[in-house]
Amino acid sequence: YRPWEVRRVRTTCPHCATGCQMDLIVKDNRIVDVEGADGPSNHGLLCVKGRSGSFDFVHSPDRLRYPLIRNRETGQLERATWDEALDLVASRFMEIKKKYGTGSLAGFACSRSPNEDIYMVQKMVRTCFGNNNVDNCARVCHSASVSGLATTLGSGAMTNPIGDITHDVDCILLVGSNPEEAHPVVGMQIREAVQHGTKLIIVDPRKLGLSQYADIHLRIRPGTNIMFANGMMHVMIREGLVDQEFIRERTEGFEELKKIVSDYTPEKVAEVCGIDKDKLIEAARMYASAKKAPIIYCLGVTEHSSGTEGVMAMSNMAMLCGKLGKPGCGVNPLRGQNNVQGACDMGAMPDKYPGYQSVMDAAVRAKFEKAWGVPLNPDTGVFATDVFGAAIRKEIRGLYIYGEDPVVTDADTTHIIKALKSLDFFVLQELFLTETAQYADVILPGMSYAEKEGTFTNTERRVCRVRKAVDLTKDPSFDIRLDTDIIIDLMNRMGYPQKKMTSAQIMDEIASVTPSFAGISHQRLDETPDFLQWPCTGRDHPGTPIMHVGKFSRGLGWLYPTRYTPPAETPDRDYPFCLMTGRILYHYTTRAMTGRTPGLMEIEGSSFIEMNQKDADRMGIADGEKIRVSSRRGSITTSARVGTRVNEGETWMPFHFPDGNANWLTNAALDPKCRIPEYKVCAVRIEKI
Ligand code: SF4
Repeated sequence: YRPWEVRRVRTTCPHCATGCQMDLIVKDNRIVDVEGADGPSNHGLLCVKGRSGSFDFVHSPDRLRYPLIRNRETGQLERATWDEALDLVASRFMEIKKKYGTGSLAGFACSRSPNEDIYMVQKMVRTCFGNNNVDNCARVCHSASVSGLATTLGSGAMTNPIGDITHDVDCILLVGSNPEEAHPVVGMQIREAVQHGTKLIIVDPRKLGLSQYADIHLRIRPGTNIMFANGMMHVMIREGLVDQEFIRERTEGFEELKKIVSDYTPEKVAEVCGIDKDKLIEAARMYASAKKAPIIYCLGVTEHSSGTEGVMAMSNMAMLCGKLGKPGCGVNPLRGQNNVQGACDMGAMPDKYPGYQSVMDAAVRAKFEKAWGVPLNPDTGVFATDVFGAAIRKEIRGLYIYGEDPVVTDADTTHIIKALKSLDFFVLQELFLTETAQYADVILPGMSYAEKEGTFTNTERRVCRVRKAVDLTKDPSFDIRLDTDIIIDLMNRMGYPQKKMTSAQIMDEIASVTPSFAGISHQRLDETPDFLQWPCTGRDHPGTPIMHVGKFSRGLGWLYPTRYTPPAETPDRDYPFCLMTGRILYHYTTRAMTGRTPGLMEIEGSSFIEMNQKDADRMGIADGEKIRVSSRRGSITTSARVGTRVNEGETWMPFHFPDGNANWLTNAALDPKCRIPEYKVCAVRIEKI
């Protein structure tokens, strides 16, 4: 293209939560290219997903172009007008509510949509459905971070900015995280830091790209994070490496934690975790004695039936060493989807209004009742991972899903499909006919991030602008509407008078009811080069790059007594291998977007399972050979990828691909506190076919 023929539109990458800033290059109402921009978290860098996978899907021929209603007799989806579709949705939801009560409806918000859309979804559920049965996909990725860090520190979010924890730090403790593939621009910055002298401790069962740069790589057995962390703390306390002054002045619970971790001797921990005890001791000394040392973690910590305690164990280590509320330190969960942080911030949670204000707090509820003009339900709603069981039991009968694809992403696919088939009425608002769409009664076509204004909140709590680049309503083959207009129209049809609002006006309403967003507006974000990190409590507040400076959000930090419990399912004679799941560099979650980028599909187009060379040799399985993998919940065929990335007895699969999706196998054993499934450990059998 010639520069004078195009427009450049500055926006935020629609994939992971690094929040990279990019320029969409637009010619004749079509995005023709993408370039990295100098944003605060990416400084011009983009990974292959941002560079190649951010625009083909916008113009994909697969895009949904008009509303669809399933013909009950033929089972086929048929084109409908907006009035037909929205009238049907509103009337069926209200019929179900009248017949079966307010608890019979639920909604999921999309963690890849702007904050303003998510705010309106949770407002619709609370004002029209009359309950708090609203959730988002954080339930299956970082709900353990929200519940764990909120309990110990008072706020369930990353404590320090990306630039602060990847530049000029002495040591990085990276636990259960593969940033070079899942958050590649963060991974690039970690690698650069290590090449300039930062020490790197990796704690992960699998060999990673970053392993070659690590000073220590503890390849712990899957599901033993708490055992490892308690072992680290045992060494820190025994050797006097802890920060006594910080513990005394800023925390509570030290004596109980000290008593518990006294049992976690290096010898015992080494045996359970399958690591060298001297390496554990060396890691504890390296982390504790470093001045600036952040803990960075991801789903390898959270996606366990003990995920919340795993997260608390991370904050325990940081608090013991006084590494919170300071530059270059902190406890830093790398969030997954581009706006999953925002989805939690915006109150797409069964127990929290926007800004983590409790639905059970009468004063908070009264504030929202006054703002929204209706009485609100005081009871915690149903968590997303419990909605499926409730649907099978016929307790939930109507479900509205905005932009999520649980048939691909949720554990135990057989269970998810059974639940969706059990519903009386199921509505999906989406860009594509996804695997989940096969079960919907009504499908409402949505708009992509490139077609609307709004904000995404990245993993470091930075509220970044999303800007409209193209207008596909000019294409006569499209009969689509803004997602917020669809939700507002539905609210009115369900009897709640909601006036139409622009995205900027919705953000103003968010700011008026959410103290941590009180100083945020589109105009202010447009005028602030690095945007704003919440809490931002007023128009003159500069935002909060580092949290818990001087005082934790909850007052004293709680050194929570974490105890190791084994995973819910471990290998046995019938299912002798341990399966872990995760992401690869070239695809994003359901690959709804990256799967429509031909270049990415050419590089990685189908599923595989990593297994150890010795296991493969013993079973006579060659690299690339098709094999059957089975668990107690399902069976799939996939290809073997043989090598040394996983230890003997362990396997690893991505969950992106419909041909052999790992979630037919995964175990939906839930963490009792946050209801996250145990994606990272289940038992499988491998057979030649
Ligand atoms: Fe997009 Fe994440 Fe890649 Fe940045 S690192 S370009 S946000 S996918």
